[in-house]
Amino acid sequence: MSTQDIGFRQNLELTNVRMHPLVFVLVMFINCLTCILYLCFSSGRYIENHGVIHNIWFNTTTQEKKQYYMTQFVDSYWDNGSLPIWITAQRQGLKAGSLHFPGTAATYRKEIVRVRQVEPRFFDHSNETDWQLNIDKVVGEWFHQQDLDFVSLYFGEPDLVGHKYGPDSPERKEMVKQVDRTVGYIRDKIQQHGLTDKLNIIITADHGMTTVKRGGTVNEIILSKIPGFSFRDIKFHLVDYGPSGMLLPKEGKLETVYQALKGGHPHLHVYKKEEMPARLHYSKHPRLLPIILFADPGYVINGFLPVQFHKGEHGFDNEEMDMKPFFRAVGPDFKKNLVFAPFETVHVYPLMCHLLGMKPEINDGHLDDTKGMLVPKINPEGDGNEMDTQFQVVIGLSAMAGFLVLVFIATISNAWCKRSRAQNSSKLELTAGEERKDMKQTSF
Ligand SMILES: [Zn+2]
Repeated sequence: MSTQDIGFRQNLELTNVRMHPLVFVLVMFINCLTCILYLCFSSGRYIENHGVIHNIWFNTTTQEKKQYYMTQFVDSYWDNGSLPIWITAQRQGLKAGSLHFPGTAATYRKEIVRVRQVEPRFFDHSNETDWQLNIDKVVGEWFHQQDLDFVSLYFGEPDLVGHKYGPDSPERKEMVKQVDRTVGYIRDKIQQHGLTDKLNIIITADHGMTTVKRGGTVNEIILSKIPGFSFRDIKFHLVDYGPSGMLLPKEGKLETVYQALKGGHPHLHVYKKEEMPARLHYSKHPRLLPIILFADPGYVINGFLPVQFHKGEHGFDNEEMDMKPFFRAVGPDFKKNLVFAPFETVHVYPLMCHLLGMKPEINDGHLDDTKGMLVPKINPEGDGNEMDTQFQVVIGLSAMAGFLVLVFIATISNAWCKRSRAQNSSKLELTAGEERKDMKQTSF
């Protein structure tokens, strides 16, 4: 997907912020129901560490699979030792909410996010009126009336329309305009409720999208047609879900399956899970099946027949430019009109924790990678020196941990609010982070 088309520039650069007696953070996530990076944003951990390795819950013994909607309610699938930021915020005395964000429905160590809205069973993810109603709830009720500190808010577009019509289609460009209008709506609502100087907003996604190759000249990947490969050797499989797949061979058949598929198609990459490139962070979790497949950009992996008809897909190698998401941020703690260096999605988690004045859980990110987009705090003692201590404290905590991820979330920071009040700083400016043209998706 061309990040040039993500037109948040206009609406994200409108605000003028002077100082903040309170600091909120709003993180917005514009994403996809077929993506597995949600917990990367909300926990700061790579997929192999948080364990939500697929949108589909599965049981290799019973062959049972649950589609994404029902997978949301399988607590054991989400609650793997990593805590989403809402739970950690609550445990540290903050008030958190989440609307439609993947993982919202689950219970983590017997705790749920206390303010939440889980999407209905057959929710129309494209309805702009519904989007506005949800924004009214988040900004008007949750932030303004209930004084929440952090909210994550999720939109299923322009992902769905990108899948259906392709990333370069007129339909998707129209949806991007709708998203842009919605960003403007959010900012208007924030202003109406007097929150402009108090709310930091992060708007991001967890992947890009590329056009699927179609037509008679395309050598489609159909596993059953690869010589030497047979589904009779497979105990359980997750294929026909776009450009990646996993296989569990029957006892004693791993080498047979692996050797048949390896080199079996010029656009198919085949790995034993322990051989997966470390940079993809998709090998260490026990839920990952022994053989992992992914395709070159534009190709999808079919099992028996070409049954996938999406015109746009994601899930390819995160080094591909088309897979990069964007990142925008605006609010009292962000520098204004800043174009920032690329960073991985996992680094957003420590950034959010820092804005909230929270101690992060163990994670894969580092505040070092994002703190340059923040307005330096000025020492209230009046000596003109930046207050770097709080950065150092949080960085230290992050460094001990080591992981991180991204979401579409709104955050409000009590702890930092208190610090900000004490500092009585009048030099803070609004920051608008620019789009991140080669920001890495944290997994494929
Ligand atoms: Zn998607």
